[in-house]
Amino acid sequence: MRYISTRGQAPALSFEDTLLDGLARDGGLYVPDAWPRFTADDFRALRGKPYAEVAFHVMRPFVGGDLTDDELGRVICDAYAAFDHQQVAPLVQLSSNHFVMELFHGPTLAFKDVAMQVLGRLYDHVLAKRDRRITIVGATSGDTGSAAIEAVRGRQRAEIFIMHPHGRTSEVQRRQMTTVDAPNVHNIAIEGTFDDCQNLLKAMFNDQAFRDEIALSGVNSINWARVMPQAVYYVTAALTLGGPDRPVSFAVPTGNFGDIFAGYVAMQMGLPIDRLVIATNINDILTRVMDSGDHTLGRVEPTMSPSMDIQVSSNFERLLFDLHDRDPAKVRGLMDQLKQAGGFRLEGAALDRARETFAAQRVDESQTLDTIRRVHHECGGYLVDPHTAVGVEAARREADPAVPMITLATAHPAKFPDAVEQAAGVRPPLPERMADLYDRPERCEVLPNDFDAVTAHIRSRRTG
Ligand SMILES: *Cc1c(COP(=O)(O)O)cnc(C)c1O
Repeated sequence: MRYISTRGQAPALSFEDTLLDGLARDGGLYVPDAWPRFTADDFRALRGKPYAEVAFHVMRPFVGGDLTDDELGRVICDAYAAFDHQQVAPLVQLSSNHFVMELFHGPTLAFKDVAMQVLGRLYDHVLAKRDRRITIVGATSGDTGSAAIEAVRGRQRAEIFIMHPHGRTSEVQRRQMTTVDAPNVHNIAIEGTFDDCQNLLKAMFNDQAFRDEIALSGVNSINWARVMPQAVYYVTAALTLGGPDRPVSFAVPTGNFGDIFAGYVAMQMGLPIDRLVIATNINDILTRVMDSGDHTLGRVEPTMSPSMDIQVSSNFERLLFDLHDRDPAKVRGLMDQLKQAGGFRLEGAALDRARETFAAQRVDESQTLDTIRRVHHECGGYLVDPHTAVGVEAARREADPAVPMITLATAHPAKFPDAVEQAAGVRPPLPERMADLYDRPERCEVLPNDFDAVTAHIRSRRTG
């Protein structure tokens, strides 16, 4: 399997090189040069198998011989051993035809663990093979940072520095990062906003000398290896509810479009999916583009589902590539317009094609609270977090009595206790294994929003 850039002006790479490079050098995103196909019998053979085994079969064609079967199998088994539910992504029934898939049973209580736990181990493997070390630097408003830290903690060949805006993350989110006790984990609280953190990160990537000096690497969601492991749970959920012999639909709380794109990947592999419902909060650029073709940037509005507060959904470029018959010149044209004019229009056959598979719904803040309250009331006290609630409401609007609907529960309700308590009047407790989160000592350096100060700190703390 080779990987090609959506913009067509970067070299094709192997799986391992894509893993280390992340973003293509022409600014594009790497995608497989062709989608691997499974037959209905291939899918049927996976029914009832443990999650790790399904994961192995689904990921194997994408890895394309870069890892042996033994190596891939070990990465996957290790990655999911730490989850606190044997099924990894269990289904819970909300009503006769509506299910929730709980993706928050990993170490940091959000779905990002499902891919990040694989990514950390893939890094380890490839770096050992090449006898290299890297320094991962990331900026986070919450969930990505803790998932990345958990994935990399204690690993030999990677050191990780995560910047978060000082005093602006939730306490659970901060403690999940700062209480990790491992010598290769470093937290930096920047005296500024999330945007300041992101700008510092961009400046580091643009400083070629610094970049080479520390062997800088990133962990943001455009890395193909973060999308790939997410295709697996679309397969396990469909198989549980009768696939591939009947289609199912999914509603996905969406920010950067990585998670829902993984559903599209499963579909390209041959899994019968009726609809993929893009669920957005009031930051609704994706709902607008599906409704009218208008993909114009707006301003980011803060909401109670902060992991979906985005302006540009980076992974949408991967879909645009397919919608335009994989013509990189078309993608370059749209991306140029986005950069220069702040938007583009999706039109004609491309928009029609998108609508064959995707639906989109915008769910505002009061509808989100109502949904948390309603689910708690109607489903035996079941609690959903605000991101999941956006998905549940979008699913309700798109319901089709003939097709099972599965909403992806992307975070544990205890990760966003204030919104849940406000809506349902109940404060969700942390799972047992994290009950001492508030007692663990924190390790974190507070630094000014200053490039020289932050890079000097990273240089002085690196051990490699
Ligand atoms: C990251 C995140 C999302 C958005 O996922 P994308 O892949 O960026 O679309 C939704 N919910 C939660 C809880 C998240 O952490």
